[in-house]
Amino acid sequence: MFIAHLPAGFLLTRWLQNKFQTPRFLWVGLLASVLPDIDTLYFYLIDHRQTPHHEYWTHLPVFWLSIWVVIMIGNLFLRKRIVSLISLLFFSNIFLHLVLDTFVGGISWVYPWSTYSFSLVTVPATHAFWVLSFIAHWSFLVELAIIVWAIWVLMKSKKQIED
Ligand SMILES: [Zn+2]
Repeated sequence: MFIAHLPAGFLLTRWLQNKFQTPRFLWVGLLASVLPDIDTLYFYLIDHRQTPHHEYWTHLPVFWLSIWVVIMIGNLFLRKRIVSLISLLFFSNIFLHLVLDTFVGGISWVYPWSTYSFSLVTVPATHAFWVLSFIAHWSFLVELAIIVWAIWVLMKSKKQIED
């Protein structure tokens, strides 16, 4: 996925907020929805584009799942609803990011057992500049649909506040 991570995170977080009847922690969901892509800084500035950024630990499901399990085991003793809520908002958005990256990217879902990178669709390099290849591909319409959906939900919730 290219540009729809944040709006998709907004949609998921709003849904979870409604489900758990809380208006809090939207920022947690939004932050987590884009957090794995922080590795692009390392990709460009330090690694000099040697390794596809989806191969870094920031895009490994097992890494995030391990942290989530540790937090939930710790919370078995603490029994804090807020810990469960924040970790649910955070990690569900992390995994949404990874699922969306599986659409046209590639994620190693079964690492460390295999480094095989799962992806649903391959975007062919139709343009010299890779960004144009993504924009020209039909999968970009899915991203635009997510963005339109998020804007619609945002406008609807703003209207409800005004009414
Ligand atoms: Zn990503």
